[in-house]
Amino acid sequence: MQQLKQFWVAEALEKDLGDPGNPNSMMSFKQVMDLDEKEEFPDEIIDWLYNWKLQHYYIPTECGGEFTGFDEFISFVRVLSRRDQTAGIAFTTMFWSYLVWMAGTEEQKQNLASFMKDNNGTMCLAYSEKAHGSDLLGGDMKATKVEGGYLMTGEKWPINRATRSGVSFVLAQTDPAGGPRSLSLFMVEKSKIDPAKYSNLPKILTHGIRGSDMSGIKFDHCFIPDAMRLGAEGTGLELALKGFQITRALCAAFSQGAADTALRTTLKFALGRKLYGKTVFDMPQPRRTLTDAFLDILICDCCTYGVGRGFSTVPEQISAWSAVVKYFVTTTLETVVNNVSVVLGSRFYMREAHDWGIFQKVLRDNAIISMFDGSSIVNLHALLLQLRQLTKSRARNAGKNLEALSTRLSTTFDLTQTLPAFDGKKLELVNRGGDDVLQGLELAIASLEKLKSDSNLNPDTLYQIITFTEIMREELNSLDVEITESTFQFGHEQEPEFFDMARKYCVLHAAAACVYTWIYNRNHLGEFFANGEWLALSLRRLMLNLKPAKALPGRIDDSGVTQEMIRLYNEDRMFSIVPFQLAKSQLEETSTDASPKLQLQT
Ligand SMILES: Cc1cc2nc3c(=O)[nH]c(=O)nc-3n(C[C@H](O)[C@H](O)[C@H](O)COP(=O)(O)OP(=O)(O)OC[C@H]3O[C@@H](n4cnc5c(N)ncnc54)[C@H](O)[C@@H]3O)c2cc1C
Repeated sequence: MQQLKQFWVAEALEKDLGDPGNPNSMMSFKQVMDLDEKEEFPDEIIDWLYNWKLQHYYIPTECGGEFTGFDEFISFVRVLSRRDQTAGIAFTTMFWSYLVWMAGTEEQKQNLASFMKDNNGTMCLAYSEKAHGSDLLGGDMKATKVEGGYLMTGEKWPINRATRSGVSFVLAQTDPAGGPRSLSLFMVEKSKIDPAKYSNLPKILTHGIRGSDMSGIKFDHCFIPDAMRLGAEGTGLELALKGFQITRALCAAFSQGAADTALRTTLKFALGRKLYGKTVFDMPQPRRTLTDAFLDILICDCCTYGVGRGFSTVPEQISAWSAVVKYFVTTTLETVVNNVSVVLGSRFYMREAHDWGIFQKVLRDNAIISMFDGSSIVNLHALLLQLRQLTKSRARNAGKNLEALSTRLSTTFDLTQTLPAFDGKKLELVNRGGDDVLQGLELAIASLEKLKSDSNLNPDTLYQIITFTEIMREELNSLDVEITESTFQFGHEQEPEFFDMARKYCVLHAAAACVYTWIYNRNHLGEFFANGEWLALSLRRLMLNLKPAKALPGRIDDSGVTQEMIRLYNEDRMFSIVPFQLAKSQLEETSTDASPKLQLQT
């Protein structure tokens, strides 16, 4: 794993932030809980991150930064979010800079890069309006053309970092009769506009991420020079939707960080808490809940790193992949947090007990991830609009260009392969070329069949992996028929059944991502990863979404997976297919939490 450079930044950041269980560390659980109680913006943490120069990793190398790939980005955002989603999200509003890296002029790119690097600058995304929510085209914000620029009038709300940001990306109507081309996007640099013509709205009190700068921004005939428009007039909606493809996919990293802490802190409790003469962990039911949570995290890992790398290999397919990941990963990990809360018992609801009460904060903070940047429903809607086209492409491409497909899949999923540079101009609004992940199922089955001669593999495990992959293929075929026979029409008033089809599609895409991740990384991610038990168990979990338990092969022994989870916990490693090193834990919080190091020898 040493050679997987994309995890080095995350490891270095972890080391420098130190053990979150030590109250004296930066971003310790104690510190972030104190801030949360006071609903205070995490200024000290944000300054620390700027001094660490993390902002450089949000700027592509060609624009003078250090960003090289989304898989690296995902891993360090997980590091932030496992400690504190409030600070993680606040710092990461910088990922909206991608709008400029994608569509800005050279001057705009240089401006923004130097604003981020030299002035510790950040930005906010001002799309939503109180009266219009998800309906971007229905917004009231107007930018009326005048000599040399526009007069902007209207209000955006609720906007994260609207007040504490120097740049606002504002979507505004420039042509009331333009239909889908009625909107334009502006990179509003606050320092260069008249302060008397704009104002910020009061802080909004939220359920989670309480210390966030949640507010809004209001313009009143504010002059915005032409130079602050991003891309051509009328391309605002297109740009916004393409930008969402990036940010929505990357939102998964926030959830993965949160799920890690939810599992880690619950595990600590379960290993230390004694009942009936044994630990909670010794009881089969809680142990199963925790093991399943670990499996869900691994499943989501495969999807998240898959889309992260897919940006570089198949940007034209990301309109579908990002919607899948934003829906599937964030909702699955939300369920993980809820599931393990049961094991934590009453402590999940307490604001002080057990690890400074970090769990209840995770639960509250994490609930927003599936909501913002396009809710789960909005993402399923974005996906279902593409389902018919995806089905047609799958039929049209069946059995064709298999070599190219196989090369694309291996570059995407093999974590050791070098990725081509991401080119945002290659993103497409809708996926016309198909979805490699599901197109490649036949190839996956052929690769799995060849593994039958591999004497290192347990035949029963491989049998399960093959059987579940074949079930996936059958389910995909019947979903294709369902989609083809549907009376689907474009628009917003979709039948609930179409949302169910989109959900099924997400499950199949996630399952296939797990299979490729295993096939292409078996030789370099260690013994646990290679033996594939985690995969057989994960595929079964996924297929339970589509078929009753009785119709599936039985659950194999999961003790190896449980042991691996404990090993990662003991060694302070990320719960992940690439369990990179976390900061070493040093202090135990209270005497009631028995030392996990002792418990884990059993
Ligand atoms: C903490 C937080 C941070 C936020 N940060 C930002 C930010 O930085 N920038 C920003 O621009 N916005 C931000 N938002 C706003 C967020 O993106 C909006 O809340 C979101 O767009 C949904 O809008 P809405 O809540 O008004 O719901 P609405 O869009 O009004 O939706 C109402 C209902 O209609 C359903 N619905 C909507 N569309 C469809 C559809 N196509 N098919 C079926 N059902 C549908 C929804 O599921 C929901 O049930 C933030 C919100 C919060 C809470």
